Amino acid sequence: MPRYDFKCAKCGAEFEKQMTVAEREKAKPACPECKSRRVRPVFSGFFAKTSRKS
Ligand SMILES: [Zn+2]
Repeated sequence: MPRYDFKCAKCGAEFEKQMTVAEREKAKPACPECKSRRVRPVFSGFFAKTSRKS
């Protein structure tokens, strides 16, 4: 089963879930921290760790 990484757009928590592609299309994952469903998928190889604060 593929593993997907997500990042919460609300609190910034990162988490991962194992789900099938069909599951992923049906059920939107919720943030385990704040229960927000405003989560973005994080694709492997693309780490949006922007520590740029200039
Ligand atoms: Zn959150």
